[in-house]
Amino acid sequence: MKDPVVTEQKPVTYEEVASRRQPGKPSRAEAEEAVRTLIRWTGDDPTREGLIDTPSRVVRSYEEFYEGYDIDPEEVLRRTFEETDGYDEMVVLRDIRLESHCEHHMVPIIGKAHVAYLPGNRVVGISKLARVVEIYSRRLQIQEKLTAQIANAIQEVLHPRGVAVVIEAAHQCMTTRGVRKPGVTMVTSRMLGAFRDNPATRREFMALISSPASGLSNV
Ligand SMILES: [Zn+2]
Repeated sequence: MKDPVVTEQKPVTYEEVASRRQPGKPSRAEAEEAVRTLIRWTGDDPTREGLIDTPSRVVRSYEEFYEGYDIDPEEVLRRTFEETDGYDEMVVLRDIRLESHCEHHMVPIIGKAHVAYLPGNRVVGISKLARVVEIYSRRLQIQEKLTAQIANAIQEVLHPRGVAVVIEAAHQCMTTRGVRKPGVTMVTSRMLGAFRDNPATRREFMALISSPASGLSNV
């Protein structure tokens, strides 16, 4: 009997995937060179020992910080809806850790997001809601746009009776530079459907996200 033909598949690199999605995307070497330029611009020497691997580390960090460009949040939501079995009460996911980067200074925005929706006839796994927050966060952002994008994606895919997103975050461009105001957080919200039209629904949501942690968070 003949051996089955084994064709060896070369692993697809990040760069190959990226250039398929985004033709004209700079190469990794070009990105690393840009980091070297910035190091020189700060006044340091990119060839000294401590900095020699920095450009490649920075570029790898960028792959994580900005991985959200390569993922479609609506597709993530679409994958896992189920019938609700009559559950039609509010679903709230609160205190979702949020890490993003401001599009004006490319420095961190750190905070938390609270996401709620009133199911129509579909619900989604709660990990998917957190994932949607993460995908939009891993892009260059302003907080207002981030808040709206998360709410709109949930509205668009699940068609719930309402969506609410509240984000509370500190902007390092305000705390470590510029006006230097540590401890200041910015709060943004986007309310759709029942959360916008019905004050009682909105109040219930605001009460749920502002009540003290139950202690369950340590479970
Ligand atoms: Zn900024």
